[in-house]
Amino acid sequence: MSAVLDRPTAGGETAQRAPRIEIRDVSLRYFTPEGETQALERIHLSVVLIGQSGCGKSTLLSLMAGILEPSSGEVWVHGERVNGPSPRVGYMLQQDYLFEWRTILDNAVLGAEIQGRNLKQARERAAHLLHKCGMGDFLNHYPRQLSGGMRQRVALARTLVTDPDVVLLDEPFSALDSQTRLAIADEVVEVLREEGKSVVLVTHDIGEAIAMTDRVVVLSRRPGRIKSEHRMHFPSCEGRRPSPFEVRSLPEFNAYFATLWDELDVHVEG
Ligand code: ADP
Ligand code: MG
Repeated sequence: MSAVLDRPTAGGETAQRAPRIEIRDVSLRYFTPEGETQALERIHLSVVLIGQSGCGKSTLLSLMAGILEPSSGEVWVHGERVNGPSPRVGYMLQQDYLFEWRTILDNAVLGAEIQGRNLKQARERAAHLLHKCGMGDFLNHYPRQLSGGMRQRVALARTLVTDPDVVLLDEPFSALDSQTRLAIADEVVEVLREEGKSVVLVTHDIGEAIAMTDRVVVLSRRPGRIKSEHRMHFPSCEGRRPSPFEVRSLPEFNAYFATLWDELDVHVEG
């Protein structure tokens, strides 16, 4: 399952602008020795996602990141057609892929280093982001010295260091225990709101989807098609934008949960 954070703004309302991400009639087929897999069929939307395992969520993010090319159709980010990886799009994968032999700061700076940016400035920005992500005391530590939640914070700082316009997060909290998930979701949303990023988040967790986003798009089983789209409104907050943790205790939360549960049509196997 997956969800979208749509242009988080400080005031809570979604900015009225051209969509930052546009998926025009996109299909994707994977070709393997065993045959062909139709992963996505005619996806067409301005922002993204939610659906069961194997329905094409990661595929969709990889298309937006320019790592995969659609079999047909077009992907647009920020008014530009995607035709390869771009510094405007940051992609944070489920696994953190931190290099064990590099310090936290050296890990966070990596993307900027690869792009050949001014290293001194990049290190300053990386240190600033690590502070924001609550990792200020660990700049010279190594990944093995950190907990799973701390590693994800470092991975987020690394994704943001190149200052992308759009951040793609593929189930970033799935390896964390539930308390850490709740805490880190709040921190991540705060950092992303402050940084003013468009975010596409994929998650298996219905509660997380409701708590972290303005808009939840449900994808059908494979081949992924758009099944429905839901706007999250929290009138009980009177226009104020609640934190993810707060959302879970709002009166609107349970109703959204029930709706999405039905939409997802979850079947328990075995
Ligand atoms: P999700 O992230 O929603 O779990 P994916 O996007 O990873 O789904 O995969 C969608 C479908 O495409 C699945 O059936 C998966 O097996 C298939 N698929 C994903 N990656 C590849 C690949 N590299 N080669 C062949 N098939 C793939
Ligand atoms: Mg996936």
